Amino acid sequence: MSMHHPGELTAGRPALHSRLQGERGFVTRVNNLLAILKNAGQQQILTGRLSRAQEMDTHMDNQEQVNPLDQALQQWTRDAEPRAGTTPGWFLEYQPQVALPSKVMVGVEALVRWKLPNGDVLGPDQFIPWLEGNGWVACLGDWVLRHACQQWQIWNQNSMWPRMRMSVNVSAYQLRDPNFSARTLTLLEDLAVDPAILELELTEGTAWNNFGQVVAAVNEFRACGVRVVMDDFGQGVSGLNALRMLPLDGIKIDRAFIAGIDTDQKRQLIVASATNLGHQLGLTVTAEGVETAAEWLTLTDLHCDAAQGYYISWPLSAKHFTYHGDATHGEERKSS
Ligand code: C2E
Ligand code: CA
Ligand code: CA
Repeated sequence: MSMHHPGELTAGRPALHSRLQGERGFVTRVNNLLAILKNAGQQQILTGRLSRAQEMDTHMDNQEQVNPLDQALQQWTRDAEPRAGTTPGWFLEYQPQVALPSKVMVGVEALVRWKLPNGDVLGPDQFIPWLEGNGWVACLGDWVLRHACQQWQIWNQNSMWPRMRMSVNVSAYQLRDPNFSARTLTLLEDLAVDPAILELELTEGTAWNNFGQVVAAVNEFRACGVRVVMDDFGQGVSGLNALRMLPLDGIKIDRAFIAGIDTDQKRQLIVASATNLGHQLGLTVTAEGVETAAEWLTLTDLHCDAAQGYYISWPLSAKHFTYHGDATHGEERKSS
């Protein structure tokens, strides 16, 4: 399997950092940047995870201030025909979800990225809030679903990883759209993709927004065989309520509970209880953010069903995605 360092996902940042380090007028430029961003109403980006170096690169080079994301969207709508399936630079990476303890792959999660015209690659946390602010997030959501299903089909047609699930993250904005489930089910039909291979990952935030609508959509999906799981389980305050009130197929335990679980008795007790509770409710339990062999072994002892994380594989482009369940992957990565 080709190894892929997560740092590559944000290629360009280290170079930017070194370019900016020690630069004269640094503080002035930062102050200018803050003023520009404030004026441009970009508070979400400020509070998000966009690195300072990247903010400077994207906002300083052109003091007249054109947000690079705006720029990419404008260029896309000007140069391309959106219906033709092009994107303003969005692309997907895929991260395996594997069964414990066998490491047999049971699914992949599709994770979206955005390559800007200047070559910088942004992670979803850096642009989804912005797309939510300007109404483009529904367009992104539809694109992700279509692209992920098409990729699943390519793998399936090549008889790779038969019956593997495709997990897609769903935002509150998508679920708020009363046509979302019908549109998605029609997409599956058009692509001749079995709904049972699709898994939708909802976060608590997603779920509590317009609750009646969410329950209706989830019921429609599940009636057609689409799986629905609660993402980042345990992170928010209403996780148990979500279990009580939402029809679900599984939970993904937030990586905050997984990091260092091998040496932390509290985390072990919490994950053991969550796993037990999930199983009692008939749900599958996936641990996310598994980074070490020790965490993997502990989760095996705690009877989690599946795991996802750098220990198993980085998120990979479809081209580089060659997971074969080799039990030595994590060790290879650590020594590479
Ligand atoms: P998430 O659903 O919790 O996705 C997992 C995130 O954890 C991914 O970050 C992944 O790269 C990262 N990760 C995976 N394994 C490990 C590990 O072992 N250790 C650590 N520290 N991190 C790991 P990413 O790709 O930056 O995604 C961030 C969030 O953006 C996702 O969190 C998800 O909520 C959202 N997202 C991603 N793609 C989409 C999408 O297509 N639509 C929507 N609405 N949201 C998306
Ligand atoms: Ca997710
Ligand atoms: Ca998650």
